[in-house]
Amino acid sequence: MGRRGTVQDKKDNLIRNLKETTLSFEKLGERYGVSRQAIWDFFKRQGIKRPSKPRGHNTDKCRLCQKLIKISNKPHSEFISIHTIVKRMGRSRAECRYHVRRLIEQGLVGQRFGRFRSETVEKAYEIYFTEKLSIRAIGRRVGLRNFLSIIRRHRELGWNVPPSLYDKWRRSRIQSEMHRRKKR
Ligand SMILES: [Zn+2]
Repeated sequence: MGRRGTVQDKKDNLIRNLKETTLSFEKLGERYGVSRQAIWDFFKRQGIKRPSKPRGHNTDKCRLCQKLIKISNKPHSEFISIHTIVKRMGRSRAECRYHVRRLIEQGLVGQRFGRFRSETVEKAYEIYFTEKLSIRAIGRRVGLRNFLSIIRRHRELGWNVPPSLYDKWRRSRIQSEMHRRKKR
């Protein structure tokens, strides 16, 4: 299974690269260790439609890129799902991803921007960042049982998940309570 699996993986990856990037056949050939012609033959055989390369694409002048940068500058933008980004942009997903990728390559948006997929988890984080609700209560509201373990996993993976507003609020309440007791 192993060997065939890796060949299939390579094919799948190549198909994805052809569909989602504007890398040249030559570049893809280098990446996969085959000739430019071989990539071209594969592309023809598979009948893949490639995204069009915006001619003279200039990030400074590209309205899409500028809009994406604006979205990415909002706090916790790495937790905005790709669905929401697509909705806000009013463009196809492939098109949005193309520009997001260019921006990531140029370091103009964070590495994680546009990678988030789940709309439910997105909703949960939105509440997490804005309301004084326990993680459990948030999970119940959006219908997520394992929100806490999702947060833990994200933290392990290096996502920036600050302490919850609920915890901060509870801690400050405990502190003021202790303060009051000392005074007595
Ligand atoms: Zn652009």
